[in-house]
Amino acid sequence: MPQPLIERYREYIPLEPGDPIVSINEGSTPLVPAPRLSERIGANVFLKIEGANPTGSFKDRGMTVAVSRAKGRGAEAVICASTGNTAASAAAYAVRAGLTGAVIVPEGKIAIGKLAQALIHGARVIALEGNFDDALLIVRELAERHPIELVNSVNPYRIEGQKTAAFELIDELGGPPDALSIPVGNAGNVTAYWKGFQEWNTSPIMYGFQAAGSAPLVIGAPVAKPETIASAIRIGSPARWEEAMNAFNSSGGRVAAVTDEQILDAYSWLATNEAVFCEPSSAASVAGLLTHGLQTIDGMAKPETVVCVLTGHGLKDPDTALGTAPSVISCANSITAVEHAVFD
Ligand SMILES: *Cc1c(COP(=O)(O)O)cnc(C)c1O
Repeated sequence: MPQPLIERYREYIPLEPGDPIVSINEGSTPLVPAPRLSERIGANVFLKIEGANPTGSFKDRGMTVAVSRAKGRGAEAVICASTGNTAASAAAYAVRAGLTGAVIVPEGKIAIGKLAQALIHGARVIALEGNFDDALLIVRELAERHPIELVNSVNPYRIEGQKTAAFELIDELGGPPDALSIPVGNAGNVTAYWKGFQEWNTSPIMYGFQAAGSAPLVIGAPVAKPETIASAIRIGSPARWEEAMNAFNSSGGRVAAVTDEQILDAYSWLATNEAVFCEPSSAASVAGLLTHGLQTIDGMAKPETVVCVLTGHGLKDPDTALGTAPSVISCANSITAVEHAVFD
């Protein structure tokens, strides 16, 4: 039986004794060897398939803990600002907990699958005439004024849940990888992995990648109007800025940028070479390694085992897939026509 991650890692998760476990059996996601990518990178590369979580992204790891605590504390509603996946996850876990869910998303800037999820789970979905950073400011204020639980990654329980992905890597590889490669948006996930690794006294090299049009950590200043096709990392003012920079610096890693073109190349390449269909944002972790290589600081050994975190499922964003892949071949209703279509 699949185990909720709160049960699998109970002693490391600071829930209160009376808190219920609000779960859809998240976590324990596949770690898939990537032979072709390994060849290109010159290391033993694995893909952590976070799209295999119940709502199709790693956000479920944090949401199970945040919503369990919210329920335990007697909250009646949860709210978040979201580029899409947090909304989908919050909506689902709110249902599981019997709470009301409200999500604020940037108007027109979220992938269609994520919107469908939030709506079908019955959350109140509010499209803000603004970007993610504006939405986060507003929900932070709302959560102060009303008895509603904020479940963005500024919520410490989100980080506590998400750190279990690092535990799983250590369990499955029999030790930490030498390096981790991860897309960075609001920087909650890199913060969580680093926390998880540190709790096991390990320090893999942390490589973080941002989209070039939305790369505040690379530039060293907030970006007022972030732009990228990778909507899940379209964030100009990361909430976990210091924690993320601490992870890169103290691990001997770095944060760097990749262009949308590099992201989409990696996205298609993974689908056609490793049979893994992830979101464009997720592919930033692979694009980063392909573009920047395994850079190390002086005196550090080159990493041999590397994990790329593929944060969300490709089906979240069918529009980008259809706009990137070759088109459908129309065909007349005859055997010869089909023969030509298949074999020519
Ligand atoms: C949320 C998200 C990210 C970014 O994670 P942060 O914790 O905001 O850095 C990356 N990829 C996907 C698919 C996401 O949903």
